[in-house]
Amino acid sequence: MKKIPVGILGATGMVGQKYVQLLENHPWFEVAYVAASPQSAGKKYKDALKNGWLVGGNIPESVASLIVEDVSDVAKAAKKCAFVFSAFEMPDKDMIRKYEEAYAAAGYPVFSNASAHRATEDVPMLIPEINPQHLDIIPIQQKRRGWEKGFIVVKPNCSIQSYIAPIFALLQAGYEVQKLIVTTMQAVSGAGYPGVASWDIIDNVVPYIVGEEDKTQFEPYKIFGEIKGGKIVPRKTIEISATCTRVPVSDGHTAVVSLEFEKKKPSREKIIEIWRSFRGEPQKLELPFAPIQPIIYREEPDRPQPRKDRDADKGMAVTVGRLREDNVFDFKFVSLSHNTIRGAAGGGILNAELAFKKGYLP
Ligand code: NAP
Repeated sequence: MKKIPVGILGATGMVGQKYVQLLENHPWFEVAYVAASPQSAGKKYKDALKNGWLVGGNIPESVASLIVEDVSDVAKAAKKCAFVFSAFEMPDKDMIRKYEEAYAAAGYPVFSNASAHRATEDVPMLIPEINPQHLDIIPIQQKRRGWEKGFIVVKPNCSIQSYIAPIFALLQAGYEVQKLIVTTMQAVSGAGYPGVASWDIIDNVVPYIVGEEDKTQFEPYKIFGEIKGGKIVPRKTIEISATCTRVPVSDGHTAVVSLEFEKKKPSREKIIEIWRSFRGEPQKLELPFAPIQPIIYREEPDRPQPRKDRDADKGMAVTVGRLREDNVFDFKFVSLSHNTIRGAAGGGILNAELAFKKGYLP
């Protein structure tokens, strides 16, 4: 099969580099267009990395000499790529929205990591194992905005990625969750580069990440929502209370979760069985980036740990452990996922693979 040429907006940043790394040798897609800020535009990719190559190994040769374009110059993408991954950051979210819409209007499907469009009612926020049906809103989005081939799909915040699949698996099995308290311990790579100053994070825990708790509390509602009347209507049946912290870990977000069921309460063994047998559309379709087992349960009393578990199944699986009965709620557990793979570039690639298999890509 001839590979589909793809673009990366924000290709020089932490997540952009992860896309470049993960897409090397992808069976369907190849990087053909890279864009970043005006300061990087006009340079060869390898020379535009002002902080160097941050993600390990070498820059793939096929990308190293590509000329970086300015994200705002949409016309430069013409005939170079069929769709784009968006991983650029700007202080003004309206500008991110505007540029992503400009690419969609110019005919490019946009798979975004940015938060700018996550709350937009006709933009699906996808985790392919959970809400693949939300892709059905694409024709509505295109019609409403007059876009012929382009559209926007976003992925959720990396913080929820570590605990939302285990919760969804329980809901799907018929066990309604009523209350959930989550504390996240998020890696420094989640803040991009250079991210948190070393003076703030070495020998320390920072108990606040701007905007993160609101996202952690809202985004699950949209993901569990339903398409009704041309928009995604959030399903707000679970009460979620989140505390998000930054910890001195390079990669891998950990979440400590306590939950209470509404009526029926499964046994510990039943919950583990539900998690281990959980499979979604990416597994059925055998998408290249799909983990074989999306939720891995580990019985060791001291797992999951970021260094030992973040790379499970190419960094795409969520690892869960320490499920036990709770004195206040029904159960509690610890859950972990790789924030720049499953929570960022790998998740974006899985979204594009799903859209491709479902016939949404040109
Ligand atoms: P980052 O390392 O700071 O990279 C930012 C990127 O945006 C760079 O390519 C930069 O280009 C570009 N950029 C900055 N100003 C720009 C401008 N005025 N016009 C166009 N491009 C501009 O950030 P990151 O961690 O990769 O995050 C990128 C996006 O992914 C963010 O929206 C973030 O919220 C999201 N995200 C990150 C993670 C994670 O784990 N890190 C997880 C999920 C989602 P230059 O190099 O030219 O400055």
